[in-house]
Amino acid sequence: MAWRSSGSSNEGLVNNLARNGLIESDRVKDAMLKVDRAHYAPTSAYEDSPQPIGHRATISAPHMHASACESLLPYLKPGARVLDIGSGSGYLTAVLANLVGPSGTVIGIEHIQPLATLGETNMRKSEAGRQMLDSGQVKFVKGDGRKGWVEGAPYDAIHVGAAAAEHHKELESQLKAPGRMFVPVEEGWMQHIYVVDKKEDGSLEKKKLFGVQYVPLTDPPE
Ligand code: SAH
Repeated sequence: MAWRSSGSSNEGLVNNLARNGLIESDRVKDAMLKVDRAHYAPTSAYEDSPQPIGHRATISAPHMHASACESLLPYLKPGARVLDIGSGSGYLTAVLANLVGPSGTVIGIEHIQPLATLGETNMRKSEAGRQMLDSGQVKFVKGDGRKGWVEGAPYDAIHVGAAAAEHHKELESQLKAPGRMFVPVEEGWMQHIYVVDKKEDGSLEKKKLFGVQYVPLTDPPE
């Protein structure tokens, strides 16, 4: 279970996630070790649970970030282009940037400007984060993530950090062939993680993984 992985330091948290099988690969482990969750979570940074970050948003639980990275991993090669929708705290945006390396690009998109700014502010707390922003490897933009970010498309990988009301066609069209999207989708009162693969011939395959609880992907608040 999730809580078993909590630690008293970033290293402790990441090691516990690995020991409990929630992080499977060394690449994801290394990327999560490089990003101190305390720069992104205002409270209980090393607990394996979501935490509020304001504007009704939360930084997702570390085991969900690990799961997203593990699922997208075959598409997070050095040099890959990634879109992180609902970037919130910026934590996962930073981890994804470590996975795709300096020749890759990660765009974090938020529909609430203070949260787009928060992601950048949090990343600037470390020298490595500052370098990624200053070099243009990572960029935070404001926009409706349901429409993706066409300026940066096509993407090897798209992560959606809030629950979508439907399978948004515009997001699928912004995936490379091959490419992969990790997206929570609402189904009645439930939400499930879907992994959407665009194959080399452009066809789509959608796999339903497990039930989750994310904040919804919505219109921006008034
Ligand atoms: N990955 C983030 C998750 C933040 S919670 C993290 O772990 O820190 C989900 C985020 O989705 C919120 O910040 C919310 O503002 C954002 N969001 C919701 N609807 C959106 C939309 N239509 N477009 C862009 N971002 C959206």
